[in-house]
Amino acid sequence: MPAYIDVGVVRIQEYITRTSGAAEGQLRKRRGASRMVANAAAASYLDLGLEPNPESYHVEGVAHLRSIGTLSGAEAADRAGAAIERMRAQLPYAYLRASWALADTYSTAFTLLDAARRGETAEGVSGVLDYLPPPRDTPFSKRCKSCGLGEVITGDTCGDCRRRDQAGKAQTTSDAPTPEERVLAEVNHRAHLSLTAVTDLTGLARLPVDPHAKRNHLATIYADGNGVGKLFESIGDRTAAQTTSKDLDSAIRGAGRDALVSLLPYCRDKSLPAVVTVLAADDALITVPAQLGWTFTETLLTGFAQQVSGYESLSLTAGIVFSHVKSPIEAAISAADEAMRDAKRARHGQAAIGWADLTHPGGEDAKICDLAWLRDRRQVLDLVSGLPASQRSGWERIIAEAAAAEVDAADLMVFFRREFNRLGSVLADLDLTLDEFQDMLDLARWWAPPRRRDQLAVDGDQ
Ligand SMILES: [Zn+2]
Repeated sequence: MPAYIDVGVVRIQEYITRTSGAAEGQLRKRRGASRMVANAAAASYLDLGLEPNPESYHVEGVAHLRSIGTLSGAEAADRAGAAIERMRAQLPYAYLRASWALADTYSTAFTLLDAARRGETAEGVSGVLDYLPPPRDTPFSKRCKSCGLGEVITGDTCGDCRRRDQAGKAQTTSDAPTPEERVLAEVNHRAHLSLTAVTDLTGLARLPVDPHAKRNHLATIYADGNGVGKLFESIGDRTAAQTTSKDLDSAIRGAGRDALVSLLPYCRDKSLPAVVTVLAADDALITVPAQLGWTFTETLLTGFAQQVSGYESLSLTAGIVFSHVKSPIEAAISAADEAMRDAKRARHGQAAIGWADLTHPGGEDAKICDLAWLRDRRQVLDLVSGLPASQRSGWERIIAEAAAAEVDAADLMVFFRREFNRLGSVLADLDLTLDEFQDMLDLARWWAPPRRRDQLAVDGDQ
């Protein structure tokens, strides 16, 4: 029987963010790592007797392969081993996995491969190989200056970082496009512009034209699909499964592109207002200027929902994390991942957003809101975020003190409603609970409705 082999990177974002930091050289290395991953997945494995599997779909960092001709179980395991070694040579410190299965058709292989990745293998029929990166420390080793993790071979960086630096410099014709290059081309095409990628995170944070925007903060968004596994389980037919996965891929890429295009009126028009690490299948990992984080996320989730409206119960859940540009980006990424998971747990199967604010004391714990709630409350949020910061922090202080004194939440809201009335605020007309009011105050910190280029005086755009 022919063998189907999937070989690829596990936990791509962890691998890519080994070279952390906001500096130009470190971002270049992360982009280089993106390119290395794209190239490794697109590489030829023909000399190993493996051809691209034409029936599969795009998964970032994974090569879907099929043997040319029939193999035994032992031979298939050998080929999977050779393929993973080939990938290791290109990605020295990535966590790699190869799964293989013997099957007459890809739909049978698909089920076997999926089971193998969960550890359910069948002797001589399917298997899985995990290839962990080398351990962090060996005695007497010198640590890499760039990632702080790898072992220095020559100079002051490890082999992985040296490759990243090379790969991050420029795209050559033989390179596979990275997620960022793909979406950049699509945004330029859609907006008739010739934007380029930002050179560092500091530059990204400074892109908004609004003179009131904070210029040294970022929002990192991690989004993941709901209902995708269930949907694929319910599809028996292979052709239908392929169509569905193509639909999903174009939905997330289209929604990502449109969400980025929606940010352009708020930014200087030279650079893409984002660093894109993943944007494929039902996954997105993107960093944008902090002030545009909510706009981007709301547009992404809404756009995705529209694009997959033909499918029942598909949606995106996102985590947003606000962080200072100088704080380690990998901390923001793992916090965004965590916030997204919290939102999934709290709002099972619904379009929801978890957000955390690493710049605010106590802001590390994710708060959750529904996409629908966010849309309903948009005008109120505009209003709350437009209040003087001193007013909002005064209210936050009162809430904290009341909590310490164990004041009843309903009593406290009676007090606040009196306050809102005194101020003549429309907040008085809303039946807010204390939790909701607190959420709004938290959310308002980064909500600030951004001002567009065309709303600013010409000299404002500097
Ligand atoms: Zn290194």
